[in-house]
Amino acid sequence: MERINIVGAGIIGLGCAWRLAQQGKQVVALDSREAGGEASWAAAGMLAPGGEFFEPSELATLALRSLGMYGDFIRELEAESGITIDFRRSGAVEVAYSDIEAAALESRAATQAACGIISEACTHLGRPARFFPDDAVVAPRDITRALRVACQRRGVNLLEGEPVTKISADGRVWTANGVHAGSMTLVTAGAWSSNLLADLPGGFPTVIPVRGHLISWRLPPGQLGPILRHGSTYIMQRRSGVMLAGATKEYVGFDRALDETAIADVQSRAETLLPLLAGQVPTERWNGFRPYVEGELPFVGQLGNSAVWAAYGHYRNGILLAPETISRVVAQLSA
Ligand SMILES: Cc1cc2nc3c(=O)[nH]c(=O)nc-3n(C[C@H](O)[C@H](O)[C@H](O)COP(=O)(O)OP(=O)(O)OC[C@H]3O[C@@H](n4cnc5c(N)ncnc54)[C@H](O)[C@@H]3O)c2cc1C
Repeated sequence: MERINIVGAGIIGLGCAWRLAQQGKQVVALDSREAGGEASWAAAGMLAPGGEFFEPSELATLALRSLGMYGDFIRELEAESGITIDFRRSGAVEVAYSDIEAAALESRAATQAACGIISEACTHLGRPARFFPDDAVVAPRDITRALRVACQRRGVNLLEGEPVTKISADGRVWTANGVHAGSMTLVTAGAWSSNLLADLPGGFPTVIPVRGHLISWRLPPGQLGPILRHGSTYIMQRRSGVMLAGATKEYVGFDRALDETAIADVQSRAETLLPLLAGQVPTERWNGFRPYVEGELPFVGQLGNSAVWAAYGHYRNGILLAPETISRVVAQLSA
């Protein structure tokens, strides 16, 4: 039977492992820490092209295709894992704080409509705004928990606390505990991916970590329907009542320390956008590393003629892009 190594078990690696195991492949997934414990754990879970893509582009096309696949992806994953995933077609409201911002929002709506992102004028607390009815929210930690169970049920061998130190062109993978042979290896190590590809044929982009801080509060459910956004500030609420806000964009390498200034900045922007948050004390504060590659289009493909494939560089939209990326990778590996 064909044996495939997957290096990095975030949403992309776990999703590919699940789909390949569904096809009857023997899959070993290795993660240096806990599966689903990095960017896929940190993400807010906005599935929101309306706030991300302002004009037609290849990335916008992939994102819209992936959003269209989300409902079926979640339904199948829930059925296979038995885990309920908090997924909602919430819509999103983008607010303008000035006439200049309102005019920019209007003209952006016209170019967005050209790539299939529809919106309509509305108001938020008396301010001009636009409603994007197709934007959605999901709880990424629900997805990775469900993927983990679905992988186990399909016989994926998930090895955690197992950092990969080297990958060779014939698909072998090294860890401190030995060598894993494989007919193919897929690298899905997010912000750590390009370091792992150093010994392989070139043509792959360098990935850098872009740190983001988020905070959340435990509030009564049902207080916020759509995502609320103003530029880089966003607020959303889970079905459980947990309300979360983000985010920052920081170039500090892989520094995991919480930055109180960044957290205070997110809190203050969130209070301006949604005054009911004033005085609320966050119950959770965290950060994570978005995998950024130049050009912002994720790399998905084979490394030269080697037995190694990679899928990484999903930056700030990896949760949104997951269903499309996973199905594209699996199609390439199965061809
Ligand atoms: C603060 C923040 C907010 C975000 N919000 C959103 C959002 O609202 N919507 C959205 O669509 N996206 C969002 N994103 C982006 C999204 O989280 C990422 O694009 C996506 O999670 C990337 O998934 P991945 O599987 O490629 O990487 P990761 O989830 O980072 O997984 C990579 C895995 O590889 C493992 N690994 C690393 N090195 C090795 C090694 N040597 N050996 C073995 N394993 C290794 C890691 O331990 C990790 O588990 C956000 C990201 C951040 C940080």
